[in-house]
Amino acid sequence: MSSGREFLDSALSQLKKAAEVLNIEPGIHLYMQNPKRTLIVAIPIRMENGEVKVFKGVRVQHNNARGPYKGGIRYHPNVTVEEVTALAMLMTWKCAVVDLPYGGAKGGVVCNPKEMTKTELERLTRRYTSMIYELIGPYVDIPAPDVYTDAQTMAWIMDTYSQIRGYQVPEVVTGKPVSLLGSLGRNEATSRGVAICVRETAKYLNKPLKGATVSIQGFGNVGSNAACILYDMGAKIVAVSDSKGGIYSRDGLNPYRVLEHKNATGSVINYDGCQNITNEELLTLKCDFLIPAALENQINSRNADMIQAAAVVEGANGPTTPEADRILYEKGVLVVPDILANAGGVTVSYLEWVQNLKRETWTLEEVNSKLESRIVSAYASVLEKSKKHEVNMRDGAMLLAVSRVAEAIRLLGIWP
Ligand code: GLU
Repeated sequence: MSSGREFLDSALSQLKKAAEVLNIEPGIHLYMQNPKRTLIVAIPIRMENGEVKVFKGVRVQHNNARGPYKGGIRYHPNVTVEEVTALAMLMTWKCAVVDLPYGGAKGGVVCNPKEMTKTELERLTRRYTSMIYELIGPYVDIPAPDVYTDAQTMAWIMDTYSQIRGYQVPEVVTGKPVSLLGSLGRNEATSRGVAICVRETAKYLNKPLKGATVSIQGFGNVGSNAACILYDMGAKIVAVSDSKGGIYSRDGLNPYRVLEHKNATGSVINYDGCQNITNEELLTLKCDFLIPAALENQINSRNADMIQAAAVVEGANGPTTPEADRILYEKGVLVVPDILANAGGVTVSYLEWVQNLKRETWTLEEVNSKLESRIVSAYASVLEKSKKHEVNMRDGAMLLAVSRVAEAIRLLGIWP
């Protein structure tokens, strides 16, 4: 079975569990199981050597009962329609958990950006945007960055969309460069949200954050910024990794220096004074907080039993399979689920969109304080739900999200 299929099955099983507890009407459950719209496109690109290649792209719009569709676009060789569908569904729940006036969507293009030039990536992005153009828009569907896409990618989307419209439409996309009406704090927002969740979890577990040991899988935008923010908060980052492998230091490492090393050499491995470890070893290290910040299905039935962290805070989307979730729960490992832990990104996307619509720019302090209060209050609501229903935090977050979305669908009714 493809990992995308497995991922979608686990998203559907989480929904089913919540629907059962909440006693959701079968019709509304069915409604939420299916994405409202899926567009698959074949994107022709002339590569720099003159050869024409065709890339498969997709945009899945899961649900818009609570507001316009919202969600990132990922570029990755393993993208599948099932994976993007699961991710779109997670976006619906994520926006509902933090109570943003959005639904959920996700996009993906099957490509390997590491093997493409900047010009090729620009052509791919512009052509993809033109092919999903009719389905996106500031009040329809607002894309953002995800795995291997960034502020530059968003600038190209904004420009392509605006060129076709005939005037500039910054609010069609979030995660833009700050100089192009992006929001201050958006680039680190997902990581800041993760760090806030780590801090809230430390409080809940009665552990001091100062000196708490943290292992982070993935040293991309989310992982590296989370490492730096937590380091600044006084946590001890003992291990980090990327796709080439990981590094470990019992005494803790300085993530700012590791980032310089990664920028210079292409990987975190072989960093002075650290021991090289595998990604698998990183996941099973003894530590206070484990932050999976790479791809889905990383903590699964094969390794969950060996996890020695006190808590897992999910920076990535879908890093833990349902089977692993069950094992961790039985072992007493607290899991702060993706739809809460990494919601900082979409929260600041929302703040960026509001600034754009009002033609305002807010200070970093304003943005960060709004982010802080949204995540802290969502964390408390999720904890309350999970205590009330005596379930883990993922189920608690799902109960909160699914009840909000179901209520919106119920009130809107089914047209005609
Ligand atoms: N790709 C990010 C996520 O998975 C951000 C989405 C957004 O800002 O719309 O949450």
